[in-house]
Amino acid sequence: MSKITILGAGQEVGRSAILVEDKKSVVLDYGTKIEPVPPKFPLDCKPDFAVLSHAHLDHCGGAPLLFRKAKPPIYMTDVTLELSALLIKDSMKVARKEGYPSPFSKQELQRMVKHTKIVNYGEHFRLGSMSCQLYDAGHIPGSAGIVLHSKKSVFYTGDIQTNESNLLHGCALPKKVDVLITESTYGHKNHPERRHEEGKLLEYVEEALSNEGSVLLPVFAVGRSQEVLLILEKYADTIAIDGMVKAASEIIEDYGVHLKNAKKLRNILSQVKFIKTHEERGRALGKHQIIVSSAGMLGGGPAVHYLREIKDDANSKVVFTGFLIEGTPGRNLMQTSIFENLDERFEVKCGLHKLDLSAHADKSGLYKIIKHINPELVVCVHGDDCKKFAKDITETAGIEAVAPANGETLEI
Ligand SMILES: [Zn+2]
Repeated sequence: MSKITILGAGQEVGRSAILVEDKKSVVLDYGTKIEPVPPKFPLDCKPDFAVLSHAHLDHCGGAPLLFRKAKPPIYMTDVTLELSALLIKDSMKVARKEGYPSPFSKQELQRMVKHTKIVNYGEHFRLGSMSCQLYDAGHIPGSAGIVLHSKKSVFYTGDIQTNESNLLHGCALPKKVDVLITESTYGHKNHPERRHEEGKLLEYVEEALSNEGSVLLPVFAVGRSQEVLLILEKYADTIAIDGMVKAASEIIEDYGVHLKNAKKLRNILSQVKFIKTHEERGRALGKHQIIVSSAGMLGGGPAVHYLREIKDDANSKVVFTGFLIEGTPGRNLMQTSIFENLDERFEVKCGLHKLDLSAHADKSGLYKIIKHINPELVVCVHGDDCKKFAKDITETAGIEAVAPANGETLEI
C-alpha cells in the first residue's frame, strides 16, 4: 500500500471518502455533505473497488456517482445495502422537492445495488493485492470499521462507538495496524453519563404525560429512533412512529442478527402505531401521546407537522436526542423558541429539551481506540477541529497524527 488521498471529510464533517491506492485503488465511503443545501459530494475518483462503512448519507449518499461511467464492485454488510438504498432514494426525492438536481440517476443507484457484494464481519476478501476485513463499529446496525492489509495495514473507523447502547454492542477492533484513519466528531468532548441522559428522557416523558401533554421526539430514522424506542419500552402502546422511521425500523427488524436484543425491539415494534396515511397523521396526537418521527433536526419530514400541532401547549415537550448542526431549524428552535423554514415561521411554547444519546465514541473512547490499535500514524478526519485533535494526539499519546485537507495525499 502506498498512498492515502482524502476526497472528503478532510477537516470537516460530511461527504466522507478516502482513496487508498496500492497497485489497485479502493475508495472507503463516498458520502454527501447534507447541510447546508444543496448537498456537496467528495472529489472525483475512479476506483477499482469501493467499501461502505455504514448507511448514513454522509458516508454512502454519493456512492451512485461511482457508477456513472464505471462498475466497481462495492462491498458492505447486508443491512447497510438495504438501509443505504432506502436513504439514497429518499435523498433523491428530497432533492426534487427542494428544487436542486440530484447528480445521479435512479439507474446509477440500481447499478450500485447490482454490483454490491455483501460481506460479513470478520470475513476476509481480496481487493486486488490488498486483503480487506470488516469489524462491527457499534454505531448503527451493520456499521463497520474497515481494515486493509498490504505491505502496510490501515484501519478506517468510519463512525464508531466504543460503548454499548440499548440497540447495539460496542465496537470490535483489530489488533495493531500501521495507519489508523479515525473519525474525530467528539475528539474534544466526553459525553455525559448515558444512564443520566436516559433517566432524563423518561422523566420528561413522565412529566408531559402526567400533565396530559404530548412528547415529540424528532429523530434520525436509522439507529437513533430504534434506540429511543428501546429506552421508552414501557410506553410502547402510547407511541406512534412516522416518516422514514417506519421503513428503517422494518429493515432493522428484518436484520435482527446485528442487534443486541432483536426480540425486545420486535416486541416494541409490534405495539407501536405505524402512521401510514394523512388521515392517521391528523388523528395521531389524539390517540398517541408520544410521537417518534424524522427528521432529526426538523429539516423536513412529518416531525414538523407534529410540532405545529403542539406548539401552543405548555404541557407538551419536544425532546432532541442527537447533535443539532448550526443553522438547522432544530438548532435555531433550541436557541430562540422560534421554528422557521422556507415555508413558515412560528413561536413554540411547549418545553424544549436536548439530550445526548450519541452513537459516536467520545474523547475517552477515541483515545481507547488509539491506544488499542497503537499505530505509527493517526489520520484524523470527520470532525469540526481535526487539526487540534491531531495535535492533542501527538502531545498526549506520543503518536504522529495529521489532519489532511480534502485533496491531500499521504505516502505510507
Ligand atoms: Zn454515521
